[in-house]
Amino acid sequence: MNVKENVQQILEHFHIEQFQHDLIDWFRTEQRNLPWRKNKDPYKIWVSEVMLQQTRVDTVIPYFYQFIEKFPTLDALADAKEEEVLKAWEGLGYYSRVRNLHAAVKEVKEKYGGRVPASKEQFSSLKGVGPYTTGAVLSIAYGIPEPAVDGNVMRVLSRIFYITDDIARASTRKKFEQIVSCIISHDDPSDFNQALMELGALVCTPKNPSCFLCPVQRHCRAFAEGVEAELPVKTKGKAPKHVAFRAIVLTNEEGKIRIEKRPSSGLLANLWQFPNDEHAPTPNEQAFIKEISERYHVVLRSIQRIGTFEHVFSHIVWHIEAYKGNALELQIDDETNKWVTVDELNQYAFPVIYQKIWQAYE
Ligand code: SF4
Repeated sequence: MNVKENVQQILEHFHIEQFQHDLIDWFRTEQRNLPWRKNKDPYKIWVSEVMLQQTRVDTVIPYFYQFIEKFPTLDALADAKEEEVLKAWEGLGYYSRVRNLHAAVKEVKEKYGGRVPASKEQFSSLKGVGPYTTGAVLSIAYGIPEPAVDGNVMRVLSRIFYITDDIARASTRKKFEQIVSCIISHDDPSDFNQALMELGALVCTPKNPSCFLCPVQRHCRAFAEGVEAELPVKTKGKAPKHVAFRAIVLTNEEGKIRIEKRPSSGLLANLWQFPNDEHAPTPNEQAFIKEISERYHVVLRSIQRIGTFEHVFSHIVWHIEAYKGNALELQIDDETNKWVTVDELNQYAFPVIYQKIWQAYE
């Protein structure tokens, strides 16, 4: 059986219109009052959708306000320097999201006169824009009936249709996109997609879904069979790799702090950090002092421990042993290595773990 036939079979005996009605009605009365829902500005909706990837709504809200205040229009973001954009994103993580967004809005400004394209082909060809973002922005901002299927929506639909396919597989996502293409409301695709997302966030949650309060309970096959807790099926990815290294808040005789820019590609690209031995972790403090002295061209005699810091990325976990130390400087500043004052430090975007080290140092 091909995917199309399989989808047809899944939708047999499913009351599409009644489902749309129950879902959208509930959304219109119960939806949360979120800042990006205040209007249909495609730029703001796009920013919110990018922020919401892998990040909780509560965390996103203050960032969204700050970001939109700083870059109120697509043109303002397109014209901004990368350093400013990274600074506004500082702490949100997954920085490739904002680098891609920045590149994409520049393209929109150049190619489409600053208007977010309403065409699926044009919008989805922009940097960093995948099928989910395409569906979310086109449906919410322009009312185009495109599916917006992320992990949240797949969980809800796995339960409603009692689908046991592994949601970690790309083919499963495609199947769900086909299902949503068939059941999406053409009268109100915006509310339909948002309602599915909202249902996943408020009612059909990963653990202990609130089935007895659910507006689409009568359509839900997993609930009817009592198997909602077993869905969705998702295989685990590889265990993250643990990496331990040292870092130091290094000050010079004037009390300035040494910072350096990370490489322009790879993890946390172009963010700033304190001197460290991430690429060749040293076995002990003496070796670390020697490494820092040679690599950063300073005379460093002793260091003091600040503490141990941990940060979990999707595929890697960092354990940083952090120190402080005074050094006699021998190296002059350049574009990627600087001595800065405490006030100047605030102009540079640092990964969260280095912000924590700084707070502990202070
Ligand atoms: Fe989710 Fe339960 Fe509603 Fe089904 S009835 S959609 S499992 S909350």
